Amino acid sequence: MAAAVQDLFPGVQVTIGPAIEKGFYYDFDYKRPFTPEDLEKIEKRMEELIKEDHPFIRKEVSREEAITRFKEMGEHYKVELIEELPEGETISLYESGPFVDLCRGPHITSTGKIGAVKLLSVAGAYWRGDERNPMLQRIYGISFPSKEELDEYLNFLEEAKRRDHRRLGRELDLFSIRDEVGPGFVIYHPKGALVRTLLENYEKEEHLKRGYDIVIGPMLLKAGLWEQSGHMDHYREFMYFTEVDDEIYGIKPMNCISHILIYKSRIRSYRDLPIRYFELGTVHRHEKSGVLHGLLRARAFTQDDAHIFCTPDQLQDEIVGVMEFIDEVMGVFGFSYEVEISTRPEKSIGSDEIWDKATNALKDALEKLGMPYDICEGEGAFYGPKIDVKLTDAIGRKWQCGTVQCDFALPERFDVTYVDSDGERKRPVMIHRVILGSIDRFLGVLIEHYAGAFPTWLAPIQARIMPITDAQAEYAKSVLEKMKAAGIRADADLRNEKLNLKIREAQVEKVPYMCIVGKREMEAGTLSLRSRKEGDLGVFSVGDVVGRILEEIESKK
Ligand code: ZN
Repeated sequence: MAAAVQDLFPGVQVTIGPAIEKGFYYDFDYKRPFTPEDLEKIEKRMEELIKEDHPFIRKEVSREEAITRFKEMGEHYKVELIEELPEGETISLYESGPFVDLCRGPHITSTGKIGAVKLLSVAGAYWRGDERNPMLQRIYGISFPSKEELDEYLNFLEEAKRRDHRRLGRELDLFSIRDEVGPGFVIYHPKGALVRTLLENYEKEEHLKRGYDIVIGPMLLKAGLWEQSGHMDHYREFMYFTEVDDEIYGIKPMNCISHILIYKSRIRSYRDLPIRYFELGTVHRHEKSGVLHGLLRARAFTQDDAHIFCTPDQLQDEIVGVMEFIDEVMGVFGFSYEVEISTRPEKSIGSDEIWDKATNALKDALEKLGMPYDICEGEGAFYGPKIDVKLTDAIGRKWQCGTVQCDFALPERFDVTYVDSDGERKRPVMIHRVILGSIDRFLGVLIEHYAGAFPTWLAPIQARIMPITDAQAEYAKSVLEKMKAAGIRADADLRNEKLNLKIREAQVEKVPYMCIVGKREMEAGTLSLRSRKEGDLGVFSVGDVVGRILEEIESKK
């Protein structure tokens, strides 16, 4: 790409161009912005260079020689990069036709080996990411061994764009994020707040069923507690602070501390354990503005957070319980998922004995459940091993959701104990765990996973009654009342509009069921049922349709 750009735009300066997770980019300094037409031209020139099959030739030169060479070419960004390399170092260059670049390699052998290429976008980027430096133009592209693979990827990008939760959030009137409020802070509109509430209610019920106690902690806690927890030393830059009555308070970025204080509010015996505290805990974290992304990365969000205090011997059973919980919840939403265990890193606290015991408890729990897992050696937190769960959505993207984290540090810092059967005070193991993670983020993932078409149990409007003419308006209202009385979220489109238009609009709003009532249906006390997925389903009694929808709500379909 850089060769093509140099070819087509004399006077352009090349800077750096790495491979990234999805494709590659190159930053250029040019006197005017590149247009979409320019990208097309560059792509064409790249295709010619591929056909011409220029070999890539590696040359090793001295630092001085490299500086002289790039100075002659007038590439002063390259000169700057080389001048920063250590004296006496051999520098590798790659040549391809008339193009020369500073590159560590390795490389494919020639341009002919490139299968298919597509330039995706152009964006501004400061030289070396520093806003005091000149603004460059970054061209992103992607390459695949074959045209078929490239087309498949481009279709995937289209599909991902169609499912973008920020766009659907606006179209379906679920939420908004506004400049006058501040970046990263979400306002839920009625339909979005409803879906979130349904998720939260589901979570509360499931936690109560599984022996968790629901607790609620305050949003502000005095700075002293954040000193004690270690957040002031290690997490301060991500926290917000405020002052109340001349004292500094930290706005909680995590829910752990209140839960520890509840545990410590009385003496605990081994007979009391395990204790499981669950909170739909809203936290604030000062994420950099550049990484904010709709619901997926916000500055305030609510976690389905729980802390389990147990004896080391109870750990394995607790992990089994949490993983079974996660498995059931993933099944409800139709997600497959992968599991990873992260083990002891080099810098860490706690004895070998407790690390081994905890890590084995995690492994044994997964083995007992027959859940396959990967091991990430040394990737655990300094205070304990953990399990991460990554779900796969409808178009194959992976998302981090559940985590189960053992913690040997906070029980020490807050002197958390229980009285064991031998009368001695001992440390319980503390587990931090989330099932969905951030409910907000999970909702964003769900919107993209379902492309906005929530299953019946989560759909803001589950059924819409549509009379064909005004003559059936009263009958439509009576059907609506029956549905509402049965607990179905229904509304009626009583406008004097063509039926086709009403259906089209309900499809756009992704209402699961449309109930059409004409003269015949009114006389027979029935309705014509239409599903957003399958189209016309036929004529049913009102009672049958109510039963069908209630069945779907009950079974979370
Ligand atoms: Zn926690």
